[in-house]
Amino acid sequence: MICNATKKNDLLDFFILWFNIWGMTQHNIYIHVPFCIAKCNYCAFFSKAIAPNWEQYADNICAEIDFWKNNIGKITVPTVFFGGGTPSLMPIEIFNKIINKLNQNFDLSNCTEITLESNPGTITHDKLNDFISCGVNRLSIGIQSFDDDELKFLGRRHDAKTARDLLEYAIHTGIRVSADFIYGLPNHNVDNIIDLCKKINDTGLQHASLYELTIEKNTPFGRMNLDMPDNNKMADMYLAIQNQLKLPRYEVSNYATPNNKCQHNQNIWDGDAYIGLGPGAKGRVFMNNCWFEQSGGDITCVPLSNETRAVERLITGLRTVRGVKIDEAIKNVIDIDFINSHNDLIQIKDNRICATDKGILILDDLLVDITR
Ligand code: SF4
Repeated sequence: MICNATKKNDLLDFFILWFNIWGMTQHNIYIHVPFCIAKCNYCAFFSKAIAPNWEQYADNICAEIDFWKNNIGKITVPTVFFGGGTPSLMPIEIFNKIINKLNQNFDLSNCTEITLESNPGTITHDKLNDFISCGVNRLSIGIQSFDDDELKFLGRRHDAKTARDLLEYAIHTGIRVSADFIYGLPNHNVDNIIDLCKKINDTGLQHASLYELTIEKNTPFGRMNLDMPDNNKMADMYLAIQNQLKLPRYEVSNYATPNNKCQHNQNIWDGDAYIGLGPGAKGRVFMNNCWFEQSGGDITCVPLSNETRAVERLITGLRTVRGVKIDEAIKNVIDIDFINSHNDLIQIKDNRICATDKGILILDDLLVDITR
């Protein structure tokens, strides 16, 4: 484990130790579950299509929780997110063991959200009920498409009917439900997107994530010569989503009614601290008055300068409709003259910087222009 922080003075150290030990440091928790039944054709996420040793996996996660308890104290945890991979493959006993360990080591009394990512075909109604009994109050379902041919093309291992069944049952349980979809497949056009949005509207979903298909190297799609829609067509499809989906956008790819935003992701986009547990997990940890870039699994932890952290906050915050709060750290990394002279792309409102609808379409370029 690599950890270096600059200490200011003894009094400050004492305060920080007290602050950490008494649990006033708030960190969200992300737990990566890097196992899938098979790899999808587009997937570049850290996940393996293997039969996991779940006991070993849980023991490793628990050891990481012990590590953080010993190093950062009894933090308060506002949200927990089990992402993957396919967390819904996890046996309920394993999930329970991890949740119990979190409860023993951290303060989850004000934890408002425990999300489980799932894939259709990997979770029965009974198993979903078990997860809910053990604390899950938000289910994210990887539906990706309502079209069986598209699902086959994407390399998904479920059909549309299985996805609809899980979606309907999850909504019926009363927990918060989100679903992921992919658009911008070869030959997709605005009509396909209008059709997809109508189907999403009909489900009654209160949260949906719509991701543009991106072709990553070292994936089956990366080795095919796919005829992808060009940037203009992709932009037209993106705009069609804004027009057709009944859910308002609150982040580049995320849409929800006001009370159904993903609190975990919103916290992270706002720049709050989070710990990543499990191989492939990333975190941003605040301890000893310093920010650290943190990785789960073998736990590495590298200090970040205030400037780097401010740029990170800018990158994630500008993805959101609410934008980034302007504080001293943000003031030091932005080009205010550029912002003031490009109000069609980026604006300051109520002491927050927000990208306009036009600016969102060129966000990567915009970020280069507004940082200095
Ligand atoms: S289910 Fe998700 S994480 Fe697993 S291979 Fe498919 S896209 Fe990747």
